[in-house]
Amino acid sequence: QSFEEFNLNRQLLNAVADAGFTKPTEIQQKAIPLILGGQEVIGIAQTGTGKTAAYMLPVLMKVKYAQGNEPRVLILAPTKELTIQIANHAAQLAQYTDLRILPIYGGVGAKAQIESIQKGIDILVATPGQFMDIYRRGELPTKQIKFLILDEADRMMDMGFMPQLRKIFEVIPRKRQNLLFSATFNPRVERLSGEFLEFPIKIEI
Ligand code: AMP
Repeated sequence: QSFEEFNLNRQLLNAVADAGFTKPTEIQQKAIPLILGGQEVIGIAQTGTGKTAAYMLPVLMKVKYAQGNEPRVLILAPTKELTIQIANHAAQLAQYTDLRILPIYGGVGAKAQIESIQKGIDILVATPGQFMDIYRRGELPTKQIKFLILDEADRMMDMGFMPQLRKIFEVIPRKRQNLLFSATFNPRVERLSGEFLEFPIKIEI
């Protein structure tokens, strides 16, 4: 199978080629068509399997280009390092689009991150704590969020983020497409999936 077989646009296919990806990985083959079709997906896959591009490419395809100034995609991840890594991966895949991507995380003071949000962004990659911190300051517009992705959901559960995640689900629009990625599908991840995904398809690789 090749990336050309997915309904991705030329900008994304060129970025995939630049990244040196010749063939979609197993998780990409399974997840990309489902996500493009609007399905809610639970992806059980380790780091290194290409899971980030598996959700990023179809989501980038669906948002396509910058529109307004408020985030339309929210990706939640457990750590600062991971938010930066995901945002870098997104920026690489979105390099031929005008989409604006921003990682936000704690421990550095929120001022610069708030200024970046005010300039306008399309895709926000956040740790749950920092998302709620900036939201409570009234500096995080949430009304346009149409895609929610939980990355490394098992680690977020291990780190005790469930209460923050529940608060986040309350302050973003109900009508959205949800995706969850996790290395393991343990009871806590199962409970989280049950709370926030609607009729998901589970892909295990
Ligand atoms: P991830 O599992 O998302 O952490 O990705 C692991 C690494 O695989 C990253 O460095 C990606 O750039 C790379 N990668 C993702 N998809 C592909 C692919 N289809 N072919 C080759 N490398 C890939």
